[in-house]
Amino acid sequence: MSSVSPIQIPSRLPLLLTHEGVLLPGSTMRTSVDSARNLQLVRSRLLKGTSLQSTILGVIPNTPDPASDAQDLPPLHRIGTAALAVQVVGSNWPKPHYTLLITGLCRFQIIQVIKEKPYPVAEVEQLDRLEEFPNTCKTREELGELSEQFYKYAVQILDAVSLEERFKMTIPLLVRQIEGLKLLQKTRKHKQDDKRIIAIRPIRRLAHIPGTVEDEDEDEDNDDIVMLEKKIRTSSMPEQAHRVCVKELKRLKKMPQSMPEYALTRNYLELMVELPWNRSTTDRLDIRAARILLDNDHYAMEKLKKRVLEYLAVRQLKNNLKGPILCFVGPPGVGKTSVGRSVAKTLGREFHRIALGGVCDQSDIRGHRRTYVGSMPGRIINGLKTVGVNNPVFLLDEVDKLGKSLQGDPAAALLEVLDPEQNHNFTDHYLNVAFDLSQVLFIATANTTATIPPALLDRMEIIQVPGYTQEEKIEIAHRHLIPKQLEQHGLTPQQIQIPQVTTLDIITRYTREAGVRSLDRKLGAICRAVAVKVAEGQHREAKLDRPDVTEGEGCREHILEDAKPESTSDTTDLALPPEMPILIDFHALKDILGPPMYEMEVSERLSQPGVAIGLAWTPLGGEIMFVEASRMDGEGQLTLTGQLGNVMKESAHLAISWLRSNAKKYHLTNASGSFDLLENTDIHLHFPAGAVTKDGPSAGVTIATCLASLFSGRLVRSDVAMTGEITLRGLVLPVGGIKDKVLAAHRAGLKRVIIPQRNEKDLEEIPGNVRQDLSFVTASCLDEVLNAAFDGGFTVNTRPGLLSSKL
Ligand code: ADP
Repeated sequence: MSSVSPIQIPSRLPLLLTHEGVLLPGSTMRTSVDSARNLQLVRSRLLKGTSLQSTILGVIPNTPDPASDAQDLPPLHRIGTAALAVQVVGSNWPKPHYTLLITGLCRFQIIQVIKEKPYPVAEVEQLDRLEEFPNTCKTREELGELSEQFYKYAVQILDAVSLEERFKMTIPLLVRQIEGLKLLQKTRKHKQDDKRIIAIRPIRRLAHIPGTVEDEDEDEDNDDIVMLEKKIRTSSMPEQAHRVCVKELKRLKKMPQSMPEYALTRNYLELMVELPWNRSTTDRLDIRAARILLDNDHYAMEKLKKRVLEYLAVRQLKNNLKGPILCFVGPPGVGKTSVGRSVAKTLGREFHRIALGGVCDQSDIRGHRRTYVGSMPGRIINGLKTVGVNNPVFLLDEVDKLGKSLQGDPAAALLEVLDPEQNHNFTDHYLNVAFDLSQVLFIATANTTATIPPALLDRMEIIQVPGYTQEEKIEIAHRHLIPKQLEQHGLTPQQIQIPQVTTLDIITRYTREAGVRSLDRKLGAICRAVAVKVAEGQHREAKLDRPDVTEGEGCREHILEDAKPESTSDTTDLALPPEMPILIDFHALKDILGPPMYEMEVSERLSQPGVAIGLAWTPLGGEIMFVEASRMDGEGQLTLTGQLGNVMKESAHLAISWLRSNAKKYHLTNASGSFDLLENTDIHLHFPAGAVTKDGPSAGVTIATCLASLFSGRLVRSDVAMTGEITLRGLVLPVGGIKDKVLAAHRAGLKRVIIPQRNEKDLEEIPGNVRQDLSFVTASCLDEVLNAAFDGGFTVNTRPGLLSSKL
């Protein structure tokens, strides 16, 4: 006999009248409460405030009539089960009701109902002793989902107070269960339809007696639980997490598998045992090796590589990760992600990228609370699960594109992740226990710092990654991109040759970007096309091997011309044609990529007065920007169109005012020959191309030049681009982003760049070969700008300060 001391239930119990099944001692079931009597009972006995009270209830299986809400108490079944409510869930839809999770303790018998309203209370006599139902026993079975036909058996079992009687009751059920299992075996053997298995399920549920042969599915589930239990036991998770797991596992074991919460809890436990609480890789850091690796993987970007090496060296010396987070800021496709990956490689760490673009819900970072099916951990915990170690390199991609919404600010959650003071205790809502993130190395990337939330920016050390020059792009293509693409497409340098002039054509005529992403894509397109030709060629060679087959038509395309043997008509000559690489020249390029996208644009567009080229800075790098102006009869209105901000509009007004006040000096007149430029005249300024909003004062000089061209009827030189802020008095003030802007002018094939005088020092940052290709004019006032922008100067007296390109 068990040594547990018998527990006495109270002599008076509030009665819960159920109509959905029979609760047996030792089993757990879910019952819904919607009758007035039961609602009263739950509110006054089980709920106080929001906490659950541990009142023992008397659960009476009522006549199965859920609608019964009559005033008078119906006749009650004499025997019931004393029970504890483990969980109460309330809802108002479609009408107020509660769902109770109740566990049966022991039988009782009603002696007398002593109160009927608002809910019945009865004087009772305990029939079972509690220790007769050890918790571990498999009889703990859920009966709540009994179908009608088994209802009466269940009540009879409830009524069977003596063990002997109870056995008598259950043996017929066991016999049916065995029959059912035999049927199941037969069904499996003959691979018959599963429907019959479903038909016997209710019997199995009812008669779950220890030692019974069980269905395979359930065996598997039980095995899984045993496995989970073992994993929890052997896991190296911290004390707190372990405690939570043990508790949840206990709950899981009590739950019927049909409950949605079962899957929820199981998923949770599986995640908990899978997480790398204590698993990490060993850092290996040899700065010299790191330098070689970075150099091997990345061409150019010296500044960035230097800074990354410094960062790694300091980390090695200090032996911890505290300090600012590195944030690489630059246009797309300049290798930010790729450097992040290399950092992980040099340290021997796992790498994981977390895309933050468009994330506007803090639960994306911190997870959803585990209250509903489908709740998930956040991206940080998910990432850790994916990499399987607790010290990976996490690349937080596009921190400048974090959104904000009613669901909380993800930037605040991210701040917690990145803060070394807090992140050893990071609590994901789903996990609900702390995970130590202090070993994770975070690196962030962004296109611009302008939209990074200030608090986050404060945690970061910004490293600018500028765009590439044409020469750098050619090198990157030939050292890195082309070999990678060849490998991905199963091609060898013996099969395809892309000369540097072709690469330059792709760069200048098929792409216009600061990075190398489109370039890489175009190279991919070329490799795909060539792969098809090579495969076709091999097919043809195979055919040539067979003297009975003559050559097909498929290889006459231009790109195979170089590779085509002199004559392949002699099919009796079995020697294979000499293998020659397919050469990608400009014709092949046009065949594969179509006609060039960026050609002649600049000079075509500058073939009329009233157009000038400005240089703009956008988060995607520098861009050339056409400014167009036209005039028409009107009342002096200025219309501005294109994607532009307020500062740009102000620049337009400044430029017009300056020109009006200098109209005489430059002999500028309106259509009717008046020096009052806006008299009977409207002006329309347009900033075409690009969905990126352009703002900032740096278009001032371009607008003034464009309007000067419009009113003078003279063409602006087609090879000149400019940038600079203006004042009302015509002075030119310095602006930012000179390097990106100059690279954009160079990319567009322009020859002369006008910059504010006070930006002269920024020219030192421009790579030597770009400087050689361009001539720079530094201007301190609009006179100088106009003189440099028009062939032969704009006024006679002022000469532009032409600089030698060797600075
Ligand atoms: P980002 O993260 O800045 O948008 P990626 O790192 O995705 O850019 O780079 C795009 C592609 O260009 C990658 O295949 C990368 O390896 C390659 N790449 C970019 N810069 C370089 C470089 N300097 N040397 C070698 N490859 C580069």
